[in-house]
Amino acid sequence: MKAAILRAFNQPLQWQEVDSPVADPDEVLVQVMACGIDGTDLKLLAGFGYTPDLPFIMGHEVAGVVAEVGERVTNFNPGDRVIAYNFTTCGECLPCLTYREQICVNMGGVLGAKDRHGGYAEYVAIPARQLVRISEPVAWPDIAVCCDAGMTAFHAVDRSGLQMGENVLVIGVGGVGSMVVQLAKTAGARVLAVDISDEKTDWARRMGADEALNPRQVDIPTSVRELTAGLGADCVLDIVGHTETMASGINSLRHGGRLVIVGYTPDRYPVEGKYLAQNELEIIGTRAGRKQDLINIARLMASGKMKSIVTQTFPMEEANEALAVLRSGNIVGRIVLLTPAGRRALP
Ligand SMILES: [Zn+2]
Repeated sequence: MKAAILRAFNQPLQWQEVDSPVADPDEVLVQVMACGIDGTDLKLLAGFGYTPDLPFIMGHEVAGVVAEVGERVTNFNPGDRVIAYNFTTCGECLPCLTYREQICVNMGGVLGAKDRHGGYAEYVAIPARQLVRISEPVAWPDIAVCCDAGMTAFHAVDRSGLQMGENVLVIGVGGVGSMVVQLAKTAGARVLAVDISDEKTDWARRMGADEALNPRQVDIPTSVRELTAGLGADCVLDIVGHTETMASGINSLRHGGRLVIVGYTPDRYPVEGKYLAQNELEIIGTRAGRKQDLINIARLMASGKMKSIVTQTFPMEEANEALAVLRSGNIVGRIVLLTPAGRRALP
């Protein structure tokens, strides 16, 4: 098979012929059709965050077709359409036993990020228990981005405890934010979105935001209060994680409001204990999602209730060009790579 190989950090990937992986007894060999790319890949490429042993194959938003199954696999067959849950979890620790496997304390590999080669390749071997079958016809790029952007958004909205009729502020309308806006709207919230260019605030409105604010033009907490009869937002989802966005988030909350930290950077934001206590504010962390969150967002995507967030596709052979566009920041929505087989499968 061919794959885009990471041989050295900060160097271009190399599209080369390599041995196809072989499925272990509990694994499935998946023929990749589409694989999303995002900021995690840029960090990997730069040697930050996860630092896999090289050479490595990135790609953690994998959608494809089952090519072969290992000898102990009974619940998948060649030809099944599948997407991948990225985490290899232990199944035995307290988080795993309490339906929070994305915070497993014995986390094993992460597909396309750590210890397990990912989907920048024509084939990838994946443990069967991490696969989700897709029964309905969905465009490959749209179902691929469910694996990270969609699942993360679904879990974040679930963690937020969103109620119908609430005013929800979504800070950062990239891939995850585009999904959060749509999910919050679908769940019956009034959605106020924040991003830093007119192009991105226009995009947020296209995704269903009721209001879209640009912090380079307005003061966010002031605008949020104006738009909520002086109360503030019931809930803020910060998908950026800069000092400025956390400040905007905290200061935009109503008394009793909830700040959900979805995105993060090394930044921090100091907040007085008294302010949190006296206003009964809640700060909630959320990480990626459970396998069930992936199943749920995939169902929603297949139902036709979600708008596509994929704005560009690239042949997988041109992964470096796609990553350069992503790095430039001049995009709205998501970029997805298509293998030669994935391109043949396009409608
Ligand atoms: Zn565990």
